[in-house]
Amino acid sequence: SIPLSFFAGIGGASNAGVLVKGSNYLETLSKTDCVVFDKTGTMTQGVFEVAGIHHNTMEQSALLEYAALAECRSTHPISKSLQKAYGKHIDQSRVSDVQEISGNGVIAKVDGRTVAAGNSKLMKRIGVNYHDCHSVGTIVHLAIDGEYAGHIVISDIIKPHAKEAIQALKQAGVSKTVMLTGDSKKVADQVAAELGISEVYSELLPGDKVSMVEKLLKEKKPKTSLAFVGDGINDAPVLSRADIGIAMGALGSDAAIEAADVVLMDDDPLKIAKAIRISRKCLRIVY
Ligand code: ADP
Ligand code: MG
Repeated sequence: SIPLSFFAGIGGASNAGVLVKGSNYLETLSKTDCVVFDKTGTMTQGVFEVAGIHHNTMEQSALLEYAALAECRSTHPISKSLQKAYGKHIDQSRVSDVQEISGNGVIAKVDGRTVAAGNSKLMKRIGVNYHDCHSVGTIVHLAIDGEYAGHIVISDIIKPHAKEAIQALKQAGVSKTVMLTGDSKKVADQVAAELGISEVYSELLPGDKVSMVEKLLKEKKPKTSLAFVGDGINDAPVLSRADIGIAMGALGSDAAIEAADVVLMDDDPLKIAKAIRISRKCLRIVY
C-alpha cells in the first residue's frame, strides 16, 4: 500500500503549483542528479518579437506578409509572433499545401507561389542559397519559388527566474544541467552563458533530443535520476524517455503535458528545484 504521506506530498506539491501525476514519481524525482532543459518556452518566454526585417528582393511589408501567410496554420511561437507583427486579418483561402517541418519551418503555397519560411536547415534542404545574418536572434529565412527573398529576425527573452532556477538546482545538489535546443548555436550559446549552464547542444531535431537524452542516461551516476523539462509538441518523446518528465503547464502544448510525469502550473523554472525539495522532504517522512 502507498504510505499516506505520499498523498500529503502530492497535495503539498500541488499547493506550490507543482502537479505530480503519481506517488511513484516522488521517489524518482528525489534522486534527480541531472536536469536537461529545452530552451524555447522552458528557459525563455517563448514569446518572440520581430526585431528586424531584412529584405533582398521585395518590400519589407510584402516579405512579412508572405511569412505571416505561409505560417498562418502553425502554432509555433515563431508563427504567433509573425502573425502579431503582420497585424492584419489573414484570408486563409490564399494559403494551401501547408507542410510544417519540425525543427525547420514551413513550406506553403501563398497566392499560388511556393513560400518557404524557416531556418538555414530549411534553406539547405530546398537548395536555396541564403545570406548569413549576423543579428542576434532566431532567423526566419524566406524563399519564394526557390529564390532567396530575405530574412526576418525574431528575438525571445529569458524568463525572469531562469538564472536563479539553475543556481537553485546546484544548491539542491543537482550536479549536471544541460540545455538542448533546435535553435542556432549562436542563440543557444548566448542563452546558456547568461544562465550559467555549462553543457549546451544546439541545432537539434526532435529525434536528436531523444538520442542526446539516451546518451546522458547512460552517463549518469548509478541510482540517480535524469529529469527533462520541456514545453513543446516536439518534446513529448523526450519527456517520456527521461526518468522523469517535467512539462510547462501554462503555455505548454497538450502533448507535452500529457507525456509528462510532473507539470509546473505557472511555467516557472524555479519550481523545478522546489519540486525536487518537496519530493525529498516527503520521502524523509516516509522512511
Ligand atoms: P526549441 O528546441 O528551442 O524548442 P524548436 O524545435 O521548436 O525549438 O524549433 C527549432 C528551430 O526550428 C527554431 O529555432 C526555428 O529556427 C525553426 N522553426 C521551427 N518551427 C518553425 C516555424 N514554424 N517557422 C519558422 N521556423 C521554425
Ligand atoms: Mg520548445
